[in-house]
Amino acid sequence: MRHAIITDIHANLTALTAVLDDIERRGGADEVWCLGDLVGYGPEPEACIDRLRETTDICVAGNHDAAAGGRIDTADFNPAAAAASRWTAGRLSSREKEYLIGLPTSLVQGDFTLVHGSPRGPLREYLDSDVAAAENLTHFETDYCLVGHTHVPMVFTASPTGDCEARHWTTDDPVMLSERKLIVNPGSVGQPRDGDPRASYAIHDGDEGSLRLYRVGYDIRATQERMQALGLPERLISRLEHGL
Ligand code: ZN
Repeated sequence: MRHAIITDIHANLTALTAVLDDIERRGGADEVWCLGDLVGYGPEPEACIDRLRETTDICVAGNHDAAAGGRIDTADFNPAAAAASRWTAGRLSSREKEYLIGLPTSLVQGDFTLVHGSPRGPLREYLDSDVAAAENLTHFETDYCLVGHTHVPMVFTASPTGDCEARHWTTDDPVMLSERKLIVNPGSVGQPRDGDPRASYAIHDGDEGSLRLYRVGYDIRATQERMQALGLPERLISRLEHGL
C-alpha cells in the first residue's frame, strides 16, 4: 500500500492541484491522508474542501479548520491569520463549516497516528524541537506519528533512552521505518515555511517500509494574484514566494 501524506493546504488550490498531480505522476497512492488546515490564509477555501473530499475521507482537523468552523477562537492567532480566518468563515457555507467541525482531532491508520499539531495537543502544540517531540512520545500508541502545523518538514527519531533526535527533512533523505518510534512532519502544501517555496508532501511506501519527501513547484503568482484581488493581508501574499 502507498499513502500520500499532505497537510497545511491553507486554501491554496493551485498548490493542492500540483501536489495531487505529482502524486499521480509518481504512480499514485492507494489513499491520501490529510493532517489538517485545509483552509485559512489562502484564497480558495471552498474549492480546497471540495477537492479534498473528492480525494479522501481520511483527514484530521487543524486549528484553522476549527477556527473557521467556530470550534475554537482565534485569540492565539497573529493579526493577519485572525483576519484571514474571519474572511474564511464568512465565505464558507454552513455545510462546509459542519464538515470542518466534524473532522476528528486524531486518527489511527495502521502503524500511524495522524494529528495536526501534536498527539498531546492536536489543535495547539507546535512540534518544533527535540524536547517537545520526546515529551510527546508517550502520547501515541502506534509506532509512528504524523504531524503538520509548523509547515516545516522534520523527522524526530526516538532513542532507546527516551530522548528524540530532530532533523530537517529533505527530498534526498528517505526515512526507513524501523522499531524506533518516529514523529514525522511532511511540511506544508499551501504555505511552506522552511525557506523553500515549493509545495511539500510525503509518500509512505508500505512494501518498502519507507517515507519519502517530495517538493513540487506551482504557480505561486497565480495564488498571489487571487489573494490580492480578494484583499487578503499583504504579509500572507508576499510570504508565499519566499517560503517563510
Ligand atoms: Zn497550518
